[in-house]
Amino acid sequence: MCGIVGILGTHEVAPLLVDALKRLEYRGYDSAGISTLKGGKLERRRAVGKLIELSDLLVHDPLAGKSGIGHTRWATHGEPNAKNAHPHIVGRVSVVHNGIIENFLELRKELETKGIHPQTDTDTETVAIWVNYELSQGKNPEDAVTSCLAKIKGAYALCFLFEGEEDLIIATRVGSPLAIGYGDGEMFVGSDAIALAPLTNKMSYLEDGDIALLTREGATIKDKNGSHANREMRTIRAEANRVEKDGFTHFMEKEIYEQPTAILNTLDGRVGGDDVRDDIFGIGSSELFEKVKRIQIVACGTSLHAGRVAAN
Ligand code: GLU
Repeated sequence: MCGIVGILGTHEVAPLLVDALKRLEYRGYDSAGISTLKGGKLERRRAVGKLIELSDLLVHDPLAGKSGIGHTRWATHGEPNAKNAHPHIVGRVSVVHNGIIENFLELRKELETKGIHPQTDTDTETVAIWVNYELSQGKNPEDAVTSCLAKIKGAYALCFLFEGEEDLIIATRVGSPLAIGYGDGEMFVGSDAIALAPLTNKMSYLEDGDIALLTREGATIKDKNGSHANREMRTIRAEANRVEKDGFTHFMEKEIYEQPTAILNTLDGRVGGDDVRDDIFGIGSSELFEKVKRIQIVACGTSLHAGRVAAN
């Protein structure tokens, strides 16, 4: 499970994006990146490993701009390297993605017949290519994203930034959660309230199939049928560190109560219906498991009991 954040701000967004990504670190990740718009142009910085690598990179090679998106990646398609890290920029589009595009191989083949060849191993890049292609056919950003969504299948949260559009982020989700944050002349989007808590205490949650058009003035949300949707705005009362503990007295208590949601979110997009992805335990895991002859579970305490359940 990765993290997504997007900001249409009144200040430089790079440090704010990295800060928000830090608050999403608890979800796990293998690489990270941010993309901003400066003078209408898209730029990005990406780094493998911990967020400190991205922060170091930004010190030596800063990224200016008041509009931006950021991502912590947990690779499902393609190795965890800098090339495959998000944001993916193709032409006029920058995109960050949480989840899986199940039919990306079919889409890739279709693109290749149009003479368009992907540069990375990710499913995500296919989305960026499609949206950019639709823009090149004269569509506006909203219609380009809508056309792309009609083609893709899977579980996803996606945020788009567009060249020349300093006051626009498009966010959409199916399966993976996304929260919209309302500021004063600023707007935010993030994987959860924890990411956005210090930036604003006013949030709403997108529902499956929603598309949100964010400008600094606010958000216009359409549901999966294209009708205008009102998503209840909630005021998160607690300050950031209370939100991080979500009302629990300490983090261990919180983690215990979060286990059902954590398992659901981890398996989201990897198991569904009759479908179990064969690399559910990571890249190359299916080949590795084919060679396994015996499993030993070594554990003590609570893990011993969990191990005994697994042994059965
Ligand atoms: N499937 C995408 C990738 O492998 C996104 C993974 C994620 O959710 O971080 O790049």
